[in-house]
Amino acid sequence: MIASIEGLSVLVTGGSKGIGKGIAKAFAAAGARVTVVARTEASAMATVEEITRAGGTAMAVAADVTRRDQMDAAVAASVKTFGSLDVLCANAGIFPSAGLEEMTEEQWDEVMDTNLKGTFITVQAALPALKNSAAGRVVLTSSITGPITGFPGWSHYGASKAGQLGFLKTAAIELGKYQITVNAVMPGNIITEGLEDMGQDYLDQMAASIPLKRLGSTGDIASAAMFFASREAGYVTGQTIVVDGGQVLPESLEAVG
Ligand code: NAP
Repeated sequence: MIASIEGLSVLVTGGSKGIGKGIAKAFAAAGARVTVVARTEASAMATVEEITRAGGTAMAVAADVTRRDQMDAAVAASVKTFGSLDVLCANAGIFPSAGLEEMTEEQWDEVMDTNLKGTFITVQAALPALKNSAAGRVVLTSSITGPITGFPGWSHYGASKAGQLGFLKTAAIELGKYQITVNAVMPGNIITEGLEDMGQDYLDQMAASIPLKRLGSTGDIASAAMFFASREAGYVTGQTIVVDGGQVLPESLEAVG
């Protein structure tokens, strides 16, 4: 285990469900103090209770990543309770499906506002606190969808996830002088409550197309996020890591067998 996670104050947006919940639980299990942020207070509280029952330290804050005032308040609550903010995991994201021909401007804007503008708002709100940390860390949750692959119904989503990576390169340069690193995890298909809703046939089909023959777990993504957050990764910035079981490697269906 990467020992330097212990004692860090970590804020995870979208920490109440799916990948964010997995990240929050993994950091807490490694001894970090975790602030779980989501719009729905009850589900953020449920994650905190799970962490607390397992012996970890966490608090819940209801906030919307598209609202600067709410993100300022979430960061302030984290600093007030835990004394600092060392690691920001900007993970909150939405992925409603809409074909390009029918997509409305409102649908486009909702995805961009949450996934891309929300990343900017979250990082900017956390900056004053991260600058006070000895080793501030920003870890974004992007995706393979957009930067590497496409999927029907997700042109807006793919654009938002690719946009995060454009954002991170300049952010990494600008924040380097504060010893803050900015990196991103690019998950493939990860088993979450949302993905499970797509049915067993979809899950089996996806697993068959992945060289490692399984979908990813939220823990797989958390491990990569924890590496970027660790002191050991202090000289790594502006980088991405694909965590997808090799999903983007095959050049045809025949290649995976
Ligand atoms: P999920 O299970 O649907 O969870 C999304 C989380 O984000 C929830 O905690 C949700 O809580 C929160 N959230 C949504 N909108 C928010 C907002 N405006 N402000 C604050 N919190 C908000 O999603 P997931 O599958 O874990 O995805 C998490 C991230 O991983 C996303 O950025 C997604 O693009 C990325 N990703 C996922 C996969 C995958 O296979 N699952 C693959 C690649 C990338 P509330 O609704 O209560 O706010």
